[in-house]
Amino acid sequence: MSDNDSPRQWQVTCVCGWRTMGAKSEVVANVTAHGKEAHQQNLTEDQVMSQATPLD
Ligand SMILES: [Zn+2]
Repeated sequence: MSDNDSPRQWQVTCVCGWRTMGAKSEVVANVTAHGKEAHQQNLTEDQVMSQATPLD
C-alpha cells in the first residue's frame, strides 16, 4: 500500500462524546487506545477511519 502521509487532518467523535483530531496515523492510534481503555473494544483501522471526518 502506498498510503502517503497526507497533510489532511481528520476528526473522530466517539459515541461517548470524546473527540480527537490530527493526522490519520495519530487519529487511528488515539481512537484505538481510547476504544480499549474506555470501551474495552478493539477497533481496526478501517473501523476508525469509517468514523473519521476530514478537516480542511
Ligand atoms: Zn468513547
